Parts: sequence; structure tokens; C-alpha cells
Amino acid sequence: HHGWIEVVVGPMYSGKSEELIRRLRRAQIAKQKVIVFKHSIDDRYSAKDVVSHNGNKIKAINISNAEDIYNYIQEDVDVVGIDEVQFFDDNIVDVATDLANRGKRVIVAGLDMDFRGEPFGPTPKLMAVAEFVDKLSAICMICGSPAHRTQRLINGKPAKYSDPIVLVGAAESYEARCRLHHEVPKDE
Ligand code: ADP
Repeated sequence: HHGWIEVVVGPMYSGKSEELIRRLRRAQIAKQKVIVFKHSIDDRYSAKDVVSHNGNKIKAINISNAEDIYNYIQEDVDVVGIDEVQFFDDNIVDVATDLANRGKRVIVAGLDMDFRGEPFGPTPKLMAVAEFVDKLSAICMICGSPAHRTQRLINGKPAKYSDPIVLVGAAESYEARCRLHHEVPKDE
């Protein structure tokens, strides 16, 4: 029996983690062996689990390299979930492909675009090689249209390129926006 790759993408707040957790829970109910990873750069709410913005969660293993997955995969694993997949390097594409070739159902979730609206890390490549791709939307905080982009805000105002990537405290936040209301940062 062969495996496959499923990709769940969208902006922040589009429900990627929710959808990943939903698929993994259903597999667990069907007595499949599920293992969940997430990139260790994402430590919102909980250092360990995959947690959605509405509070759903599932136990996850934090890793920072795609190859780390091999340290945890046993033959009897049926389903492999990976969240925040955009933070991995391109090796994640080979690892996901290899696992699918070995009969695993691989479900990855992550951002398809960064806050500038540019393709994000390995996600576009994963979308290309996957059997199934779901592109989710959030709701634009300005107009209520479907939102496919993530606006980075600093002290409530759209970020510029020159703004520091890592900020101290709660000055930085993100908001779902549609194409019209997403402001691409500029250096001025
Ligand atoms: P993602 O993993 O894509 O960031 P989550 O699954 O963590 O998304 O969170 C989705 C939840 O975010 C929604 O169910 C809703 O409760 C909340 N949410 C906050 N802002 C928005 C928004 N602008 N549009 C839609 N949902 C939002």
C-alpha cells in the first residue's frame, strides 16, 4: 500500500492548525498510529503541542531539522503530521516524499506566503509534489472578504522592510488581510 502527501496552506488564522488537528484526530479514532511534529521556532501558547488559535491541541514533537523526523518514525506509524512547515529547509520535501513512498500518509500545514506576500520557504515545492492541496482563507480584518495574506503589524501599523524581524514584547502582531488591504512593506 502506498502513502501520499496532503498540504494545508493559507495565511495566519485561516485554520491550518485546526484542520491538521481535525485530520489527525480522525485517524487516531480509526486506530491509526499518528505522530506529530512542529518546527521548534513556533512556540506560541505551548512549547510542545500543535495548538490552534481557538485552543485545540494535539501532542507534538519539536524539531528544527527535517532529518530529525527519522529519529522518531517507526515502521508501524501510519500518519505523520507536520505543522509550521514553512520554517524547515528544502530537505523537508525529500523527507515527506520518502515517507509517502514508504507508505505513510503525510499531512503538512504551513504558510504559503510570508508577510510580504512572497512564497514562503519549502511550502511551494511541497504543494507541487503533493497529491492533495487545500488553500484555506481567513477573513479580512478590514473588509470581511476572504483573506489569503498575513499583515504584519508593529504597534498597530503595517510593518516596513526595515523594521526588525525579532521584536521584544507585544509590539508585533499579525492580521489576516485580503489582496486589496494587504500592504506590502516598503523600505523608506
Ligand atoms: P492557523 O493555523 O492557520 O494560524 P488556527 O487553526 O490556529 O489557524 O486558528 C484558526 C482560528 O483563528 C479560527 O477558528 C478563529 O477562531 C481564529 N481567528 C482569528 N482571527 C481570524 C480571522 N481574521 N479570520 C478567521 N479566523 C480568525
